Amino acid sequence: MFLKRIELQGFKSFADKTIIDFEDEVTGIVGPNGCGKSNVNDAIRWVLGEQSAKSLRGQSMSDVIFSGSEGRKAVNMAEVTLVFDNSKKHFDIEFDEVSITRRLFRNSGEAEYMINNTPCRLKDVTNMVMDSGLGRDSLSVISQGNIHEIVDVKPEERRPLFEEAAGVAKYKKRKHESLNK
Ligand code: ATP
Ligand code: MG
Repeated sequence: MFLKRIELQGFKSFADKTIIDFEDEVTGIVGPNGCGKSNVNDAIRWVLGEQSAKSLRGQSMSDVIFSGSEGRKAVNMAEVTLVFDNSKKHFDIEFDEVSITRRLFRNSGEAEYMINNTPCRLKDVTNMVMDSGLGRDSLSVISQGNIHEIVDVKPEERRPLFEEAAGVAKYKKRKHESLNK
């Protein structure tokens, strides 16, 4: 699975449209404290379906929208798109390139999700992502402080990580959903 590009606009400190192209063999993002490195990581997890504002280091979900800075007004919408190489069909759709977009509007609180520019439900994104092994709880994205959590928690709290990695988590989720219908 290859993340080719991230496009951010109005997400956290990225007020202007910003494109990070990984095709030029970017292997790391470096910079001084507070320059926005972790915000890129938050953006990736946000698009992959993260629903916890706290885990995105905010109080409410609207905290991901650029809230203004010196000489710069807050904006009304955050939008992030991830573009993946899907030539190996990690995502179960026919296209060789897959983009996933998430938007959030401050005023209405409205959220939008798109796969390849076609509006879809959050569920469509999470199902597609879960099946690919890139799930929200997988180890594909590890945030600052996560390693501690993984090492320090009780075995039963560590178990979901192994279940996600082994591909069991999605079946557990589906079982849970069908039993609760
Ligand atoms: P460190 O090296 O300390 O981990 P970092 O590069 O990971 O730093 P981030 O945590 O990504 O830094 O960025 C923090 C910056 O993002 C802060 O300056 C904060 O004010 C800014 N920021 C976060 N959310 C918003 C928002 N909604 N609007 C504007 N700026 C924001
Ligand atoms: Mg950081």
